[in-house]
Amino acid sequence: MLSQGCPYNCSFCCGRLVPYYRRVRVRDIASVVSEMRHLVDNYGIKSVMAFDDEVNLLNEPLLEFCSKIKPLGMKFRAFVKANLFNDIQAEAMASAGFVEVCTGVEAGDDRILGIIDKQTTRIINKRFVQTARKHGMRS
Ligand code: SF4
Repeated sequence: MLSQGCPYNCSFCCGRLVPYYRRVRVRDIASVVSEMRHLVDNYGIKSVMAFDDEVNLLNEPLLEFCSKIKPLGMKFRAFVKANLFNDIQAEAMASAGFVEVCTGVEAGDDRILGIIDKQTTRIINKRFVQTARKHGMRS
């Protein structure tokens, strides 16, 4: 995990009721990279899933992680928030070894997406898939 917490307000998510959880806290990226290096060097692990709720809530730590992790040649999978996902993030992630990005689409109907306060729309979710594909990642 690079970070913990999510400031969003999806109506079905238990985390939104916990103040501690709603604050995004980012770990020292050098420390995360050092953990990855330990996994590679000591256990031969080459693929990892980042288990942050959404690894792209904050741009700078994600981009820093991507640039520092690239030399390790690992493969990653992570959750992202679709409405924040963009070409800059996607390019950095793909180049760093991310092969799959996931998001909670939840519904194909904008009315339902509005009711559950997902802060996304069908168009946003579609754009997420297209952006991932454009950069060679599965979604
Ligand atoms: S974006 Fe994800 S983690 Fe954040 S409130 Fe919604 S469901 Fe919960």
